[in-house]
Amino acid sequence: MSTFLFNETIFGPVRSRRFGVSLGINLLPCNRKVCSFNCIYCECGWTPDGSHGAGDGLADPEKAMLELESRLIQMANEHDLPNSITFAGNGEPTLHPHFLAIMKKTVALRDKYAPKARVTVLSNATTVNRPDVFEALLLADNHVMKLDAGTEKTYKQINQAASSYVFQTILSNLLLFNGDLTIQTLFLRGRKDNELIDNTSDEEVEAWLGHLKQIKPNLVMIYPIARDTPADKLEVISHEKLEEIAQKVASAGFNVEIF
Ligand code: SF4
Repeated sequence: MSTFLFNETIFGPVRSRRFGVSLGINLLPCNRKVCSFNCIYCECGWTPDGSHGAGDGLADPEKAMLELESRLIQMANEHDLPNSITFAGNGEPTLHPHFLAIMKKTVALRDKYAPKARVTVLSNATTVNRPDVFEALLLADNHVMKLDAGTEKTYKQINQAASSYVFQTILSNLLLFNGDLTIQTLFLRGRKDNELIDNTSDEEVEAWLGHLKQIKPNLVMIYPIARDTPADKLEVISHEKLEEIAQKVASAGFNVEIF
């Protein structure tokens, strides 16, 4: 199936139900995905060999921030300032080695040109235990962290993390926020290499809810597959099933939204 890459460092604005008018920052290369995960549903396609960590072609921090400033000035002149300045793009933004410096500058630009905008980071939580990354994340207003599985087996099947990122590390990283985070979870069923993959089973959902009870997120966002995926044979979960899962999340005392 066809997947896509963002071909700009500053992209959008995208208008979304989640974040409103969202101006995106892609710190990853514009021609290649770089991510510590290799999710079977990733809209950017498979993570190429050797692209699980920082490497060539990452955004130049100075250029990126000049571009962000000029877009914010333009949007201010057009009276169309963003609701969110969102780190996302072609992979995992926190892998950029200058993420902390970039975050500090982004917050300063937000304060100067778009003080009502929230700074949002979409992350897979693999690097949260790095002190510089955690410091940067705490400067953001919205920490949107991925948790797609209840068990290690399903985590490995869906997220296919680089070997150093075990499931327990991800869970411990999510606890570091003391509840000041949003969890986002994509639900799917399917097959890969003849193995059944299903994070919607009762066992998986129960285990996942158990983790939520520890993590205590302020919001849980759940999704079906909405775009082309690199793996074929994946099933789009019905709205009824997502409603059933959302009910369980709400009964456990969490705010939950289906997207
Ligand atoms: S964490 Fe995000 S960017 Fe990385 S592989 Fe998964 S969906 Fe793609």
